[in-house]
Amino acid sequence: MSYKIGCIPGDGIGPEVVREARKVLDAVGKKYGHEFIYTEIDMGGCSIDKYGEPLTDEAIEKAKASDAVLMGSIGGNTSTSPWYKLPPEKRPEAGLLKIRKSLGLFANLRPSYLYEELKDACPLRAEVADAGFDMLIMRELTGGLYFGERYTKEIDGVMTAVDTLSYNENEIRRIAVKAFEIAGKRRKKVISIDKANVLDSSRLWRKVVNEVAGDYPDIELEHMLVDNAAMQLVKNPAPFDVVLTENMFGDILSDEAAEISGSIGMLSSASLNETKFGLYEPSGGSAPDIAGKNIANPIATILSAAMMLRFTFDLDKEADAIENAVREVLKAGIRTGDIMSDGCRKVSTSEMGDEIAGRV
Ligand code: NAD
Repeated sequence: MSYKIGCIPGDGIGPEVVREARKVLDAVGKKYGHEFIYTEIDMGGCSIDKYGEPLTDEAIEKAKASDAVLMGSIGGNTSTSPWYKLPPEKRPEAGLLKIRKSLGLFANLRPSYLYEELKDACPLRAEVADAGFDMLIMRELTGGLYFGERYTKEIDGVMTAVDTLSYNENEIRRIAVKAFEIAGKRRKKVISIDKANVLDSSRLWRKVVNEVAGDYPDIELEHMLVDNAAMQLVKNPAPFDVVLTENMFGDILSDEAAEISGSIGMLSSASLNETKFGLYEPSGGSAPDIAGKNIANPIATILSAAMMLRFTFDLDKEADAIENAVREVLKAGIRTGDIMSDGCRKVSTSEMGDEIAGRV
């Protein structure tokens, strides 16, 4: 089969890590008989330099014409780069918000997995780290508190700020369906996080999630209050599989889940819409401090490409091949600088790509 992939190398380490992900995808294509056709798309600072804006309409059209988009990262040094002297809507990050909105990406997925070989980097107690964990945070991305009505004004002589948290049942249902579908590809468990003891929006959330669960009898559902979830993530993360939650809770919990897994250079992510389409990117930023030195860790981007194979193209076997190759490389003691430890062999970005591609 042939698959059309929009490629956004972006800024900083973006082009370096996307190059390695493409190397690994091409190895998958060769082994399993697929053709990946790439279309380059400009976004972020590089687009500002060329066209005066972070994302052109033409770039959006190219993304829409693709089956999926693989992205590096965008942005520069926010203190020194001239991009940050521009008005906010012209800065690199505006491109990110525009592409998410234009493509209707409402579901954000961030896996957090503790590799046996990287346990030393895990900040949790040894006995908790020893049990390991493998979870996927599924965060609603286009509703809730960050998109509700907000204002600050004087009421009865007192300055008052108001933010509104609202969800309708359709917004909840579509992300719940995604969570149950994806749980079916994993350990078949959804933990839905809310604050149903206090918030109306959470009570509706819980009701709709229960309704959706009725269509997935083979998937186990548990509800958990967000304060308890924040504790359980550091106390006993092993039972978490798919973690379904609304926008703000997901924002906070996904960073907590990322932190306990060790290096930012290992964490992939995906943003999906109602079709199979998705935008796949590493969780980290453009790391301008190490850009152009061939020392960045490309694994997060390579694992994002694996997510693309699994969730957009339904190529599970091929995604497994990439994930297993990453595990083998770590087992062989091969490391980029950010995850380096005693007795391991330090490699460059491109050597890491070669090692993983060679094991696919
Ligand atoms: P960052 O994630 O780029 O860097 C934080 C630290 O992690 C740095 O020390 C960096 O060297 C390191 N790091 C990150 N990725 C790494 C990798 N793959 N390998 C090795 N080390 C890695 O965060 P920041 O410095 O806060 O942001 C830099 C720029 O990235 C900013 O312009 C920011 O807006 C942008 N950003 C973009 C995205 C995106 O494109 N989705 C996300 C976050 C930040």
